Amino acid sequence: MKQYQILVIGGDGIGTEVTTWGKKILEEIGNLYQIHFTFDTALLGHAAIEATGTPLPEETLTKARQANAILFGAIGHPMYDNDPSLKVRPEQGLLGLRKALGLYTNIRPIKLFDELLNASSIKPEILKGADILFFRELTGDVYFGEKARRDDGNTAYDMMIYSKYEVERIAHKAFQAAQKRRKILHSVDKANVLESSRLWRETVNEVAKQYPDVQLHHQFIDSAAMLLIKSPRMFDVVLTGNLFGDILTDEASQIAGSMGMLASASIGDSTGFYEPIHGSAPDIAGKGIANPLASILSVALLLEHSLDMKAQGQSIVEAVDRTLKQGYRTIDIADENTPKSHILGTDAMGAKVTEILKQVVSDLW
Ligand code: NAD
Repeated sequence: MKQYQILVIGGDGIGTEVTTWGKKILEEIGNLYQIHFTFDTALLGHAAIEATGTPLPEETLTKARQANAILFGAIGHPMYDNDPSLKVRPEQGLLGLRKALGLYTNIRPIKLFDELLNASSIKPEILKGADILFFRELTGDVYFGEKARRDDGNTAYDMMIYSKYEVERIAHKAFQAAQKRRKILHSVDKANVLESSRLWRETVNEVAKQYPDVQLHHQFIDSAAMLLIKSPRMFDVVLTGNLFGDILTDEASQIAGSMGMLASASIGDSTGFYEPIHGSAPDIAGKGIANPLASILSVALLLEHSLDMKAQGQSIVEAVDRTLKQGYRTIDIADENTPKSHILGTDAMGAKVTEILKQVVSDLW
């Protein structure tokens, strides 16, 4: 039997709480489908700074390179958020790991489960049927361009920078995904103002010639942000740079009802990296109420993208769907119609999905 090595990095705050359930779901998939997973753990972010003085210990990097896939939670701690002058910071660990692994494509499916139509602040008739796949570039843009202060610290800049090959490689991935969906691709930029966006647009146009079956639209970031809320169903695949994608995908989380529902895959040159889009949520950390579904859905992406096991991943999505259909909710996605008996904490929700996953797989056989 083939053996797969999975590195589990819980990170900080609710990161560790929800990742416990991502891992348990993967163990259950191993039992149900006779797949041999072995697990190791590593530190990142604030937890790593506390233990080793650095947010990305060398040991974490070595383990990450050796694994078949990485299941990650979140990093972040209020002490850094409240003191921007601190030089050693948790996010350096996450950005450094993404860069070191060459994870240049972040894939974020925005899937609205029908049962959660009322959990969103957007009207159900606008939302129903929305299904968007974001491709956000992850290793360029203002996050990695030159940054500095001058004039005694009174002026600061962050350079927005992209090279043609960086746009090409993610554009190909987005076009290929669009070919397997509704064949519509919106590329987001600010080409009326930014030179890096003009290069982005030129390059996407060139790549598009190889995918004549895909309808390409260019959308400015400002109007894309507006249309995402006004007419979310018009979007199929959305291709964006790092900064615009960061903002748009958080906005799009409202389509799915809660940050606690959205998973993401980061892929590139080596080990794939799978995580919820939310952060360490210090406001609810330690209370046992964090929604574990984004971490559980991250496992579905891990199976599909790193292990070529789409069917097994789909059984997890089906288990989450059935759990919601049976009325179970964590507090962030509950509404006034949810009976108290069906509002579950992190562990009870994770256990419920695990139990329903067994039924889903036994129904398939
Ligand atoms: P956040 O995503 O942690 O929380 C935003 C809001 O959503 C909070 O009210 C939180 O309670 C809620 N929420 C998030 N995930 C939830 C879940 N699974 N279940 C229920 N509710 C959930 O964002 P923030 O508050 O802006 O940032 C907190 C910390 O996380 C900061 O230190 C930030 O730097 C870090 N952060 C890390 C990542 C990452 O690791 N990828 C991403 C974003 C933010």
